Amino acid sequence: MRQPIFAANWKMNHAPADAAVFMRTFLAHFGKRQDRSVIFFPPALTFGAVVGALKDRPDILLGVQNIHWEDKGAFTGENSASIARASGAKYVLVGHSERRHVFGETDEQVAKKVASATRAGLTAIVCVGETGAQREAGETTQVVLSQLRAAFAHVTNAEAGNVMVAYEPVWAIGTGKTATPLDASTAHIALRAELGRILDSGSLAVPILYGGSVNRGNAAELLGAPDVDGLLVGGASLDAEGWASIVLT
Ligand code: PEP
Repeated sequence: MRQPIFAANWKMNHAPADAAVFMRTFLAHFGKRQDRSVIFFPPALTFGAVVGALKDRPDILLGVQNIHWEDKGAFTGENSASIARASGAKYVLVGHSERRHVFGETDEQVAKKVASATRAGLTAIVCVGETGAQREAGETTQVVLSQLRAAFAHVTNAEAGNVMVAYEPVWAIGTGKTATPLDASTAHIALRAELGRILDSGSLAVPILYGGSVNRGNAAELLGAPDVDGLLVGGASLDAEGWASIVLT
């Protein structure tokens, strides 16, 4: 198994002062380790405070929750991949279901963001997932593979090392309903096979994370499911001690 990846998506939570308090508690519980990767995705305006709080912990990595696909220009309110990179980010979430469903982000925009991220040297974590209605209609595989193909439209084999995938069923995000380990593995195995068709080689190098109502109680069994390389966690990453217990799973 690859080294597991634990990614915390704080969404629009934790102001800079709260983030500093969070990090003091979290770092007290989580010493340096070589056997897992931890990545935080704070809100953009909290990002600098987290960089400061982690200055002595380069083992803990940082990402942004969103980017614009252009490098610079008249895009009020947006941040580019190169600004994120220069600020200390190594990762970016792309195509999170809240971006797709609340902000109307399209597959085409997701593909442009992935391309912009890899150009700037960020690793893009491409989120895919079906809605509850699509799941009930038996369309899960078709939906997630189509989102995957669209997101990888401009990704070359050489860039495969700069992309990850997160399977996040929309019906499981923030709802308390979690996919079973079998549901997660079934989707991950289908995604892995499709990555093999898209990338020829290099598909095995692309980690696939599971996200959707992960908590302390279910993290271990989800992480233990075949082809689950890590966890992308929203709500349960907001409490420092709780998050520490998940990353120590
Ligand atoms: C997420 O936002 O990516 C997520 C998985 O949220 P939650 O863990 O709260 O379901």
